[in-house]
Amino acid sequence: MEKGRATDKVVAETVSEKTGILGGTFDPVHLGHISLAQDALEQIGLDRVIFIPAAQQPFKLDRKTASGEHRLEMLKLAVKDRRGFEISEYELQEKGISYTYLTMRAMRRLLGKDARLYFITGTDSFLKIEKWKNSSELLREFSYIIGTRPGYRQEELDECVSRIRDIYNTEILFLNNTQLDISSTEIRERLERGIPSGDLIPAEVERYITEHGLYRN
Ligand code: NAP
Repeated sequence: MEKGRATDKVVAETVSEKTGILGGTFDPVHLGHISLAQDALEQIGLDRVIFIPAAQQPFKLDRKTASGEHRLEMLKLAVKDRRGFEISEYELQEKGISYTYLTMRAMRRLLGKDARLYFITGTDSFLKIEKWKNSSELLREFSYIIGTRPGYRQEELDECVSRIRDIYNTEILFLNNTQLDISSTEIRERLERGIPSGDLIPAEVERYITEHGLYRN
């Protein structure tokens, strides 16, 4: 965990203007996550994207995940050598339930009050954001970048975005992102049955999963 503190210190020392925060369970990280972050970086002109693995995702408390250490190591392999990608161990170090409003407050403290913080999210998460703890603070104080994946519900999303903009005056930006029909659930199911994940996750991550016997019953 000392290592994580060092990472966060580097973040603080190299403040950039526009920062994307991609929070996730990353169980495991896959090319859908990487592509979402890359598209956000390029299309919105972010200076960096910080990946923040959750200790315990509030809506997934009943699910068993790979340990935080394993999920973090896989993320490190996935973002290695990618310009503009960083990882914060904030939620893993805080332990317990990872509430996004606390994380975003912490990122603002770390990056300074003038930093422009964009929470990057897929549609499923965004559609439920009004149920997140302290959602009104989240929606008033921060901006959002929404990416989609095949099968997303455009009408429901439009309705939700327009309601949130009306109530909270939230800045919400849309990506025209690469459509990748990939989910961590599908990857875990394949791995449980001993089927390689194919080209859904970076090769180094697949090797790590095999070496550590993750996601096998
Ligand atoms: P995840 O499954 O690891 O996914 C991370 C993000 O990547 C999600 O926004 C997801 O979109 C997106 N994504 C995954 N596959 C994609 C693909 N193929 N193409 C495009 N986008 C893709 O993470 P999670 O468990 O949903 O958690 C997301 C974040 O929400 C975390 O930071 C978590 O702590 C936060 N959260 C907070 C609260 C709270 O504060 N109360 C409650 C719930 C979640 P989708 O949303 O569409 O899956």
